[in-house]
Amino acid sequence: MLKIENLHAEIDGKPILKGLTLAVNAGEIHAIMGPNGAGKSTLGYVLGGRPGYEVTEGSITFDGQDLLELAPNERAAAGVFLGFQYPVEIPGVSNVQFLREALNAQRGVRGEKPLSGAEFLKLAREEARKLDMDAEMLKRPVNVGFSGGEKKRNEMVQMGVVNPKFAILDETDSGLDIDALRIVGDGINRIMRAPDKAVLLITHYQRLLDYVRPDVVHVLADGRIVRTGGADLAHELEREGYAGVTA
Ligand code: ADP
Ligand code: MG
Ligand code: MG
Repeated sequence: MLKIENLHAEIDGKPILKGLTLAVNAGEIHAIMGPNGAGKSTLGYVLGGRPGYEVTEGSITFDGQDLLELAPNERAAAGVFLGFQYPVEIPGVSNVQFLREALNAQRGVRGEKPLSGAEFLKLAREEARKLDMDAEMLKRPVNVGFSGGEKKRNEMVQMGVVNPKFAILDETDSGLDIDALRIVGDGINRIMRAPDKAVLLITHYQRLLDYVRPDVVHVLADGRIVRTGGADLAHELEREGYAGVTA
């Protein structure tokens, strides 16, 4: 589904990704772990098409298409979802407005007709309920005044509503208490565990991986994948730290 080859990317002329190669098949969940500053969030932004992240070498194909040729909105419409490490606050725009615009814009690019207000609201309420989020929060401005945990849960509601094919989830577990971690983990499994979907799960901690069991675990260090293994690799990292594993 996703094939990244020898990816080099820079920000403001500073090389961050330095020859990253990675392939994710449909039906797989891959965890990406690695030290702070390794380039994990940068990888997410490059996949999402965030401006300012310049690819200088290498290729990314998604479902056989050249992903780098697609504008960010076209990537979203193609089924790519990026969950942010630091979800953005959008004052003045309610969660429902934002989500409905996002979903209908994607449907438009795919040539599908927009959902009506009523159809959309039913879907959004249903997703909020499944994530144990108060439906009142759908009316509030996007992420404004939300706690860290509520922002992450809200991202899962967004993901449920747009129902992507491929999700990059950047430290979705940060700031979650034990109960929220389980709810978010269950959400990832429910929405994304399917033969025709795949996930890149960026995390520092084994605890999320207890809920969302990865098929493959990678260590990203200094802009490259330096180790790849099974779910056990995450346990090894927890015991020995990145230094022991990447040496
Ligand atoms: P990680 O998510 O693995 O902790 P990041 O991808 O956030 O790492 O950052 C990788 C490197 O890129 C870090 O050294 C960071 O300081 C640098 N970096 C990130 N964003 C910018 C930016 N806007 N300008 C310059 N350097 C940046
Ligand atoms: Mg970090
Ligand atoms: Mg990061």
